[in-house]
Amino acid sequence: VKYILVTGGVISGVGKGIITSSLGVLLKNNGYKGKLMKLIKFHFQVTAIKIDPYLNIDAGTFSPYEHGEVFVLDDGGDVDLDLGNFEQFLDIRLTRDYNITTGKMFKHVMEKKRRGDYCGKTVQMIPRYFDGTSEQPDVCIIELRGTNGKIEGMTYLSAFERFQRPTLKNHLMNVHVSLILHPNATGEPKTKPMQNSVRHLRAAGVVPDLLICRAREKLDPHLREKISRFGMMDLEQVVGVHDVSNIYKVPLLLQDRRVLEAIKHRLCLTEVCEDLKKD
Ligand code: ADP
Repeated sequence: VKYILVTGGVISGVGKGIITSSLGVLLKNNGYKGKLMKLIKFHFQVTAIKIDPYLNIDAGTFSPYEHGEVFVLDDGGDVDLDLGNFEQFLDIRLTRDYNITTGKMFKHVMEKKRRGDYCGKTVQMIPRYFDGTSEQPDVCIIELRGTNGKIEGMTYLSAFERFQRPTLKNHLMNVHVSLILHPNATGEPKTKPMQNSVRHLRAAGVVPDLLICRAREKLDPHLREKISRFGMMDLEQVVGVHDVSNIYKVPLLLQDRRVLEAIKHRLCLTEVCEDLKKD
């Protein structure tokens, strides 16, 4: 399994969920390739997980005024609406386990502790990366709720930091979704908060591989160049996603910006294609 971690910067509601779903659509509909004189449709198996670092166990008792509608999964799990988008965009069915909350994790650990499963050992938060087992998809996209720098999200970022190990480097990439501000008073776009969010992420041990710049308007080439220079990134890593009239246009926008190629290159996914072709 290869992982794509989607993080957000500057404000909540920056569009992480829509970017997560859209990346899934791109990977799932990878394209057509020739195989033994035949043209076959080629795609990756993709799934998505949402991490909500709050202490609530699920979204069931949330006030809709604060969090919007609750989405109910086939297994009865009350989850964030983003999982509804994942199911719809990726044409998959998810279960409550695909929504990780800190409260759910603590509840599980505390129950084990009370049962004596830890044999009297000290129970500590030691971040680990997922090592996964059977029935794995090719790619798992993980959306981490919240803006970076928030204390609740730090444990999770620390877990993902483990992927910086050379042997794991091709197994996780980070897509950071951040916002370009357009204050009316200045009349021009401002990128400083975005730069700070990238710096925060780096300080937490996660290096952004793609920076999605959400903005009202299309990203100006000069501004893109400036963001790449100050963010210490290559120009190709900086991708503008402006406000569109319909969210179903976002996957097309990402395709146009050659995001799929960037992901395949970064996660060495072409090797997965070649293997499948041999079958
Ligand atoms: P987050 O996951 O960061 O909280 P969401 O993905 O839920 O953000 O998006 C917040 C809102 O913005 C949603 O109503 C979504 O439909 C809208 N949105 C996201 N991306 C775009 C876009 N490129 N253009 C227009 N609206 C968008």
